[in-house]
This record gives sequence, C-alpha cells and structure tokens, in this order.
Amino acid sequence: MFSVIKGINKWRQLSPNVHKVRQLSAFESSSSPKRDMDLRESEEYMKDLPDQSLANPYRKAKRVCILCKYGIEVDYKNVQLLSQFVSPYTGRLYDKHITGLCERQQRVLEKEHKKAIQYSLISAAFRDPKYTKDPKLFDPTRPQRPNPY
Ligand SMILES: [Zn+2]
Repeated sequence: MFSVIKGINKWRQLSPNVHKVRQLSAFESSSSPKRDMDLRESEEYMKDLPDQSLANPYRKAKRVCILCKYGIEVDYKNVQLLSQFVSPYTGRLYDKHITGLCERQQRVLEKEHKKAIQYSLISAAFRDPKYTKDPKLFDPTRPQRPNPY
C-alpha cells in the first residue's frame, strides 16, 4: 500500500500538469478513503484546480448588426441610408441573411422602406443612380448567414 502511494507522489512530481481529479479517480479503489481526503484538501491540490474566476476564452463574441453597433435609427426620410440596403439591379431590399441585420432592425428597415415608397421619396423599381457610389455595408454575393429558404 505504501509503495503505491509513494509511486503516485513520484509520478505527480514528474507530471505536474496532469489533472489531479483523474489521478485520484484512477487510484481511488486501491488507496484508503482517508488518504484521498487528505490529498483533496491539500493546498497543492487546490492550487492545480481550474481557476473559475477567469472568463471562458472559447466563448464566441456576440454578433451585433451594423445599425445596432453604431446606434443608427432607420428613418423613412433618410433615403441615402435606405438605398444602401437596396439592390441596384432590382430596386428591392436585400434580405436579412444578406444584410446581416438583426430581426428588429430588419423589420424597422422594411417598414421605413415601404413608407418611403408610399411618400415617393424612393423608387420601388430601381435604386437611385446618385447613391450607387456609396460605400457598401455588406457584400451581396457573400451572404452573412445561409439562405433560410
Ligand atoms: Zn441589431
């Protein structure tokens, strides 16, 4: 019995990065429960436990759409902004998977675009050529999400 524990200690010294819980469970049946408790409560064992206070480094960054990111409110009078979400070929609004907008902003955009058409501020059939040289907010040939249809 003693030689087994001595062997464990020697192995622990050689491989300090091996997780202690694994080590303990592997030899749990062979060593006495009292010894295990001593080992678990020891300072050295506690030091090697994972640090719970650190943030998860593998967590994905939350995706924020471009309008939410800069706090832009879509308005039917802001024709230039609306035209940036309109296709120059069909004059129709791009879908959510292409624009990369969140559900709420896309809904607001569609509502305001419809309103702008009703007030004749924007055409329903084509994109105003004076806005064709505006910077592109997204690439229509590379959708940001897969097509839901
Ligand atoms: Zn958003």
